[in-house]
Amino acid sequence: LAQLAAALQRHGIKAPARPANERPAVGLPELSDALAANQIRPYFQPKVDVRTGVVKGVEALARWLHPDLGMIAPDHFIPMAEQGGLIHALTLSIAEQSCAQAARWNRSGLRLGVAINLSPLLLDSESFVGEASTLLEHHALSAEQVVWEITESSVVANLGAALGTLARLRLKGFGLSIDDYGTGFSSMQQLARIPFTELKIDRSFVSGAADRHHLRVILQSALDMANRLNLVTVAEGVETVEDWRLLQDFGCALGQGYLIAKPMPGDDLPSWLRAHTQHLRALREGRVHRR
Ligand code: C2E
Ligand code: MG
Ligand code: MG
Ligand code: MG
Repeated sequence: LAQLAAALQRHGIKAPARPANERPAVGLPELSDALAANQIRPYFQPKVDVRTGVVKGVEALARWLHPDLGMIAPDHFIPMAEQGGLIHALTLSIAEQSCAQAARWNRSGLRLGVAINLSPLLLDSESFVGEASTLLEHHALSAEQVVWEITESSVVANLGAALGTLARLRLKGFGLSIDDYGTGFSSMQQLARIPFTELKIDRSFVSGAADRHHLRVILQSALDMANRLNLVTVAEGVETVEDWRLLQDFGCALGQGYLIAKPMPGDDLPSWLRAHTQHLRALREGRVHRR
């Protein structure tokens, strides 16, 4: 196989794409090398005001840009990093790159919130809060510009440790978001002990909610509750105009999903944003209609 791959490469032929269900043949040593070689990069997906379409922020989503295998999705390597003791370094690397990117956008007059995913394993770290603050100082960002996303399930599994670290992050001024809300079997009583600023509804309650009664009820109740608790409400996985309209009706603040944009490299965002802004203007002036 290696000889065949080498021959293909010599002739400039790209290896065939892997079937989507096949795990890429990479392990911890490769991941460790990739981290050192800066092949683990954040892509950014816009978070958009549901009423106006204006982009308010982005979520940083890790990608492994493998020189031979192409792009590897985080579901393949985040668990590996967690099990192999690399998640702390990986998180700091993604956070560092995301803060550097946000600072570059700031300098060009584009002020966007940046959301970064936080593994539950970081909640046990003594040093993480300090390291996160140092990053900000290093890039002259304010903590209000950064939101840490923690999945609902990991918070309840680890409430004691989570509470301490998350409270310290909040005291520093960072935003805190409950990710994948609705899949974690938590009670509001548990979640209310943590000073969250934002609630992200899991995409399983968003995609297709327009034509499924029970999803719609869950979505609406979760949004009502979060709005009453003064949390910023975010819906992930918005794929259709019908889902979008429903979120408008239900008073969701921000939406994120393929309908608006897929995650993209930071350098692509300004030109995407220009096209998006033109599109919004055309919509306002009635020159185009939504599909
Ligand atoms: P997540 O934080 O819940 O991120 C949302 C996932 O939904 C992303 O998948 C995103 O690309 C995808 N998505 C966004 N809009 C749509 C849509 O309209 N339809 C569909 N079907 N999917 C959509 P991705 O990038 O593959 O990330 C998967 C998960 O990996 C993330 O879920 C997060 O839990 C984890 N992850 C990603 N980057 C990091 C990281 O830097 N650190 C940690 N600890 N976890 C990360
Ligand atoms: Mg997330
Ligand atoms: Mg999520
Ligand atoms: Mg998720």
